[in-house]
Amino acid sequence: MNFVERLQVPEQVLEEVRNGAIHSWSAEKILEWGFDHFAPRIALSASFGSPEGMVIFDLMHRTDPSRSRLFTIDTGRLPQQTYDLMDRIRDRYGCEIEVFFPRPEQVEQMVRREGLNLFYESVEKRQRCCRVRKGEPLERALGDLDAWITGLRPGQSVTRRAVRAVEIDETHGDRIKLNPLIRWSREDVESYANQNQVPVNALHAQGYPSVGCAPCSRAVEPGEDLRSGRWWWENSETRECGIHTGFESDGSGI
Ligand code: SF4
Repeated sequence: MNFVERLQVPEQVLEEVRNGAIHSWSAEKILEWGFDHFAPRIALSASFGSPEGMVIFDLMHRTDPSRSRLFTIDTGRLPQQTYDLMDRIRDRYGCEIEVFFPRPEQVEQMVRREGLNLFYESVEKRQRCCRVRKGEPLERALGDLDAWITGLRPGQSVTRRAVRAVEIDETHGDRIKLNPLIRWSREDVESYANQNQVPVNALHAQGYPSVGCAPCSRAVEPGEDLRSGRWWWENSETRECGIHTGFESDGSGI
């Protein structure tokens, strides 16, 4: 992507990322490291569709509420339960949620040409919808940041096996990307959320382990891949929206 300015990462930070110790730190220590190096230009990217993001925000808030920023992308196709969760988080933590929307003219042009439900017709069209509704607003959100925090874990899907605790995100202008739950299991995440009464999306209780846009998410059977309810009509190698894998023009990066 070329509309995010490339970041000059300080050499000290690069050294710490490369030397490897950071990858074995606890989630709390990784968050503190991120705050110390990047606040206020660091924020959690939360979809409000998985418990991981909510658990991380709880950890951030315990670490330092004054440095805990949170942004999300409202694609315009989210289920009501996701909006309800946003308000519950605002009430619980007394925080602002930085909400980014897609550019109306891009959405209008896309649906006028290709229909409201273009994503079911081909991988290419689905990726185009994700790019317009998620990718472009993400670029604007990251334009104000030097580092972002995500709830990615290797156990979530085959597309996430190579995730590391701290990465230099070349797809997004060399920003630093923190994945503090790298060594947590889904059970760890759910147990933390239960014990600490962290609000989570009501659709999880209806069999949705991962909630994205309403037309592209469904419940899964017990034992299925946690992300198998997302874009279920595609094969598992393409099931990413591009936020964490990049939006290449031929779609191969998604
Ligand atoms: S998840 Fe579905 S509706 Fe949402 S942006 Fe991607 S293709 Fe469009």
